[in-house]
Amino acid sequence: MMQNISILGSTGSIGRQTCAVAEHLGIKVSAIAARRDIKLLETQARRFRPRLVAVYEENAAKALRDALSDMDVEVLSGEEGLIAAATVAEADCVVTAVSGSIGLRPTLAAIDAGKRIALANKETLVCAGDIVMARAEEKGAEIIPVDSEHSAIFQSIGGMKRREELKRILLTGSGGPFRGLSRQETYHKTPAQAVSHPNWSMGAKISVDSATMMNKGLEFIEAMHLFAVSPDRITVLVHPQSIIHSAVEMIDGSVIAQLAVPDMGLPIQYALTYPERKVSQSAALDLFTAGDMHFEKPDLEKTPCLRLAMDCAKAGGTAACVMSAANEAAVGLFLEEKIPFGAIYECVAEALDSIDIISKPSLEEIISADGKARETVKRIFGKWS
Ligand code: MG
Repeated sequence: MMQNISILGSTGSIGRQTCAVAEHLGIKVSAIAARRDIKLLETQARRFRPRLVAVYEENAAKALRDALSDMDVEVLSGEEGLIAAATVAEADCVVTAVSGSIGLRPTLAAIDAGKRIALANKETLVCAGDIVMARAEEKGAEIIPVDSEHSAIFQSIGGMKRREELKRILLTGSGGPFRGLSRQETYHKTPAQAVSHPNWSMGAKISVDSATMMNKGLEFIEAMHLFAVSPDRITVLVHPQSIIHSAVEMIDGSVIAQLAVPDMGLPIQYALTYPERKVSQSAALDLFTAGDMHFEKPDLEKTPCLRLAMDCAKAGGTAACVMSAANEAAVGLFLEEKIPFGAIYECVAEALDSIDIISKPSLEEIISADGKARETVKRIFGKWS
């Protein structure tokens, strides 16, 4: 089990739950980092007494430095601060729970420092999966998934050792709050409607991604990199009850699944205790009361974001990065009520149409593609408003 961790994105949904798991397991927290929520960072700093706190925004960092002046703690800012938190010497594991492509460089820095990565940031693998996985292999850094689906796949295979026995991944998804609705029916849905997920309580960005099913698309690409499988070996199943968190078909025909109540505390804990298991604070799953489970094929007409993601998975290169960055920018505009729900897909599709895809990109080319995608979404929005 990990003894000492650093949490990037400690004030978000996964970050807060990681704090609770660390407390439950008696794990020391040596560094915490977040974008700007210094009120919660201060509370966390006083509770966990980390050596280092990183705040992405400079002004917020200054204010926190003042607020914590009575404590022996270093407060850093910017990407440098995030990287310092990702490489803090005492930590044997870094939980990467920041939202968006901002997680990429700090994750690479943690890999270079030989830390275990408890990976909760999807964009890292979506944008730079080839580079990140190759680097982890080279440095001998373990990447343990925190996302519930990938944790389920990881647990079903039996950890890192048996990947050559894996035939196919069965990636499940609830279908989100708008399951079954057509594009016309969802076009003008509001942020409040989009973030009310039936089974999971999550941050705003991932909740919107869940409503468009872009989340499943990002997970599709993430699974491809994590488990080294081609896109044709991943099947998406809509499973509205979220009891099976994903499954694998092994080469002998056995299908192995992981089942649990929908509670992120469990995959977070497993990423920290692997290869051990410890008693958790999650409720046990009662199959007698769990009810029926059913499975459907996703309707790619109704969920065009999922279709785009599957196309990008096949295309490779910077395609997924452009898609993910355009999506991040479009979801931001949607949450600010500047574009309708249905325009998220249109922004991402237009960014993919207008930006040339580079195969085998360097890290710099990936970051540049990410920036171009965001610029394109801004330009599309400018045309409308
Ligand atoms: Mg998930």
